[in-house]
Amino acid sequence: MDVNTSERRALVEAAIAAHPSLPPECVVKEDLLRGGVAFSPAALRLAARAKSKAYFIFSFDLVPLAAMENQEHWSAPEEIWLEGGPWGFRPTIVSVRLNPDSPYCVDVDADNAPVLKLEDEVLAGVRLPPVPEYYTKTLSNGKRVIEIAPTIEWGYLVYLTVFRVCQYFGQQEECQFCDINENYRQQVKAGRPYTGVKSVAEILEAMEIIAATDSASRAYTLTGGSITSQLKGQREAEFYAQYAAAIEARFPGRWIGKIVAQALPKDEARRFKEAGAQIYHPNFEVWDARLFSLICPGKDRYVGRAEWHRRILDAAEIFGPSHVIPNFVGGIEMARPYGFATVDEAIRSTAEGLEFFMSRGVAPRFTTWCPEPLTPLGRANPGGAPLEYHLRLLETWRDTHAKYKLPVPPGYGDPGAGRAVFSVSSFMDVIAQ
Ligand code: SF4
Repeated sequence: MDVNTSERRALVEAAIAAHPSLPPECVVKEDLLRGGVAFSPAALRLAARAKSKAYFIFSFDLVPLAAMENQEHWSAPEEIWLEGGPWGFRPTIVSVRLNPDSPYCVDVDADNAPVLKLEDEVLAGVRLPPVPEYYTKTLSNGKRVIEIAPTIEWGYLVYLTVFRVCQYFGQQEECQFCDINENYRQQVKAGRPYTGVKSVAEILEAMEIIAATDSASRAYTLTGGSITSQLKGQREAEFYAQYAAAIEARFPGRWIGKIVAQALPKDEARRFKEAGAQIYHPNFEVWDARLFSLICPGKDRYVGRAEWHRRILDAAEIFGPSHVIPNFVGGIEMARPYGFATVDEAIRSTAEGLEFFMSRGVAPRFTTWCPEPLTPLGRANPGGAPLEYHLRLLETWRDTHAKYKLPVPPGYGDPGAGRAVFSVSSFMDVIAQ
């Protein structure tokens, strides 16, 4: 189904009816994440006074910056909070993925309050994220906190992209869904301050400002591109571990520390734990072997799928199984030209991966695929994956997680509809409370 169909509302209503065990809010959340949202000029004026989108790692937009005629990228909010409306939504937090052509639009009502519309009919009330006090501050070198240490998940997670590019480079190496390198180039071209490699001193100073003024943040994620050789004379484990070690030495236990990095050999992954990180995300991206080799050619060539999975399980011995949380990108299993042709096949494959990990105590999590136009898969699939795939994935993840009686994944805040803050997929929203 194309994202611009005039029958989108019928599609959503039918999906809610067909998936009665899912919160209706999650159906809309997944649909917004896979296809993006527009903003009216009036809503953009309101949003300009809210916490704006920081472009914390990828673009997470459905159009390039250069194609945004209303310059939405400068004033759109990081997230929207849906609540109330004709369907009586419980609070639901959704990451903003801009798409000026989306049938979903944040507009204002007669009282100039923001609302979410689908095909011009109001679907839910909207709250815009308030600007945290630390976003009004700058570091001693003049850089703003929003650039060095933005927060997402309604302020719960400090997102520290310390290396803004990836050493997997070009068509033969970059993951085919990932726009980290292209996004870096377009942000710099658009004039956004965008530090390629953040220093430990900058990170510490930003965290100092946040710690002094904020109580909402509970976790930080250290992340960035892969380092296949060296960066500033350091290998990947050493590079990312140094930030965790510095934060934990300065603010012991203030936040739950998480690191997103490649699946590294056991001795190297251990450095993250020794530095004080509690959670490790060695993202496997997609389960199927053929798709992994085609969609993640760099990871396949440098590490290999079987070795990647072996290292995930090795890491469980270091961190404990519940604290190893590899991500995959929900939806790329169906991306043309490589992906499965039917939802059934795609779900069967993904379910096999969930069984493999969850039966061993490791609960992967997923982000909902955003078909970014500066990526090969985004260009080939501007409509993303079918909504039906995303909803069946939620059911499969929820049921497999429950089958193995796994704990609520740590470092994501509260679970459950109306409470979850994780904004780039609904996996936390569907966990029973
Ligand atoms: S390893 Fe793949 S997903 Fe990660 S930053 Fe590099 S290209 Fe993107």
